[in-house]
This record gives sequence, C-alpha cells and structure tokens, in this order.
Amino acid sequence: MAMPEPPFDDLYREVILDHAKKPRNRGRLADRTQHAEGMNPVCGDEIALDLRVAGDRIADIAFEGQGCSISQSSASMLTERLKGTTIDEAARVAASFKAMLIAGATPAPELGDLEALHGVAKFAVRVKCALLCWNVLQEGLEQARRQLARGGT
Ligand code: ZN
Repeated sequence: MAMPEPPFDDLYREVILDHAKKPRNRGRLADRTQHAEGMNPVCGDEIALDLRVAGDRIADIAFEGQGCSISQSSASMLTERLKGTTIDEAARVAASFKAMLIAGATPAPELGDLEALHGVAKFAVRVKCALLCWNVLQEGLEQARRQLARGGT
C-alpha cells in the first residue's frame, strides 16, 4: 500500500500528479540493451527500467512500475528528461537530482520538470520514493558502461 502524498505547493503538485496519472514512456522495450529494477519496501514502490543504448547515447528508455505518485512521476520525468542524452549527461542529471533531494541543493537548471520534486527533500521518508528510479538508472548506466568498455554495440 503506497503512502499518501505529502502537501506540495500547488504548482508542483500539478506537475507531479500529471506525470503520475499520465506516465510518459511507460512500457517495455523489445530491443533493450539494458534492464534494471529495484524496489522501496518502505512504501511498496517498484520500478523497472529498460534502456536501449547506442554508442554512448540513450536512444530509448521506458519504465514499468507501481507505487506512490512520487515514485511513478519521478520515473516518468526521468525517462522524458534522459531520452536521447549521453550516458555521461544522464549521470550528471542523476547527480544533480540526488544533490537536490539529499543535500537540499538549489535545483540545477538541467533538471527541467524534475525541479517539481524538490519539495520531497523536506519529507525524509519520501526521498526514497523519488530516488528509487534514479538508483535503478545508475545500475543500468553501469551496465551500459561495462558494455561500452568491452566494445559492445
Ligand atoms: Zn513511495
């Protein structure tokens, strides 16, 4: 059973709920090159990510999952933001996102819509919900880096 959402400012709440209700890039990739998944038992959130990495670029990305609106909207925004970026850029965005949530850093401009989740930093127990998909992503990026190092794709 997912936790109820904390009281966000209205503007951000709208962005978060929009992504939670109409998730972008939801589904699986038949031609994926990487797959990673994880869960947040505290809240019951689950996220699985498919990546199709071509060269050093994320050519396509999709997610499946269930759980609270924070975990699902974070994943939806992640896929929207990272589709078409390089692995290095994706790692930078992930680092900026974590800095915003864990260290309470001012949202970096490169985060785009993901800024809407900055209020989650105030709710320690929910930070895990927002970070779940990013931890899954980092595993996928590491897989992609190992594949690149081997000269694959
Ligand atoms: Zn959650």
